[in-house]
Amino acid sequence: MSDFEGLKALVTGGASGIGRATADLLAARGAQVAVLDLDPSSVDKPLLAYQADVTDDASVRAAVAAAATELGGLDVLINNAGIGAQGTVEDNDDEQWRRVLDVNVLGMVRTARAALPHLRESAHAAIVNTCSIAATAGLPQRALYSASKGAVLSLTLAMAADHVREGIRVNCVNPGTVDTPWVGRLLDAAPDPAAERAALQARQPTGRLVTAAEVAGAIAYLASPQSGATTGTALAVDGGMQGL
Ligand code: NAD
Repeated sequence: MSDFEGLKALVTGGASGIGRATADLLAARGAQVAVLDLDPSSVDKPLLAYQADVTDDASVRAAVAAAATELGGLDVLINNAGIGAQGTVEDNDDEQWRRVLDVNVLGMVRTARAALPHLRESAHAAIVNTCSIAATAGLPQRALYSASKGAVLSLTLAMAADHVREGIRVNCVNPGTVDTPWVGRLLDAAPDPAAERAALQARQPTGRLVTAAEVAGAIAYLASPQSGATTGTALAVDGGMQGL
């Protein structure tokens, strides 16, 4: 498929997991793709790589401007960089709350702010935010993470309304448990990682974790001209965990 031929995309958190699978898929489907990441050292051609921290507005603006210049514009923004947090409201202090909201919510705001002037110039402008089933599922031990993704869901709906008349679509994906380096790190921290993985798989209605490629496929759909009439929606990619 070459449905992204001629389109220019920027993927935040694109060096690993869902972001990397998305960057690779968009490039394979014909897009010119730039990755923005804290550590883009693993990113190689044909992807362009920019080092930036989504909590640092100046570094985001510099990376987005450089990517738009190098690519010759921007049609697609994949707002994907994010970090996890575990615990109840009693387990995370204010500093932890500020840190996770800064990355997961404000990080997307900063990147969108920097990218919108470029997206307005595009005939196929789309933003896709990586949200989570945590936004709506009421998961235990995930108060802070869930609140951050709830904000991403609301932000997606509000931005869709704000920018639809400018020809910019805004959607999000809600993944379930995805087999990425992030989940690998959580499993490795368990006393018996293999047993923990088996238990995690057993909790999935499909008996397996979602793959990063499956989430990338959903993101690519929402970013592609094929979904040109779709904005302000959340697409669950959760192996039947929750749906919407
Ligand atoms: P990952 O850890 O494999 O990749 C995240 C990438 O984001 C890394 O390359 C990291 O360097 C980058 N990043 C982190 N903080 C950054 C910052 N401040 N500035 C720039 N880049 C930064 O994680 P993943 O599992 O691929 O997760 C990607 C997204 O998917 C996140 O938003 C996460 O909340 C969401 N998500 C993941 C799962 C899952 O089960 N893995 C489920 C639902 C949603």
